[in-house]
Formats: sequence, C-alpha cells, structure tokens
Amino acid sequence: MELPDNYKRNFADLAWKARCNVSDNAYDQMKYTKDEDFWSLKVCRKRLFDISGIDSINIDCCRNGKYPCSKLSISADEIRNAIGCLAFTREYKEMDICPSCQSP
Ligand SMILES: [Zn+2]
Repeated sequence: MELPDNYKRNFADLAWKARCNVSDNAYDQMKYTKDEDFWSLKVCRKRLFDISGIDSINIDCCRNGKYPCSKLSISADEIRNAIGCLAFTREYKEMDICPSCQSP
C-alpha cells in the first residue's frame, strides 16, 4: 500500500517525536511551523491506528526518568538501559520506588 505524501510526512514526524523524546505539547506546537497538512498528535495517532492497528500505551515512570511515558513501542529494558531508570511495567509493575534512583 502506497501512502499519500501527507501521511508519510506526518508519520515521519511522529517517528521523530518517539525517537527524540519530544513532549506531546511540544509536538502539537509544531503546527505553527508546519503547513496545513500537519496533523495534531491525536489525529496522527488515530490515523496510524486506523491503517495499521499500531497504538500507543501510557506507562508510569519514576519521577527522575527522562524518557517519555508514551512511546509507540519501547520495552522497559530499553528504557532502563538508556537512562538507568525504568518504567513501572511488566516485572516492575508492582514497584513503587525506582531501584536505580530511589524516586517514586
Ligand atoms: Zn529512576
């Protein structure tokens, strides 16, 4: 399936957001620097879900964690290895304190 150019551009922006730790608010503020084909984060995620079934999930992280909590696809191990902290998911789901930085 060949996607229209505006889909490719918006999905490329969404992938950039996920790779570069861009906040949801900062992403949506790009509407002031893009043309009228720029989709809000909500619209972009909805269109991605509609054509692929890919969805985002929110995962609680420790307060010191610098990794965003709404990535498209990243494992808890990837987060822990990246910054030494972790997301409270899978085997860490019942934890209240980050074992790396001792923050809730
Ligand atoms: Zn931590």
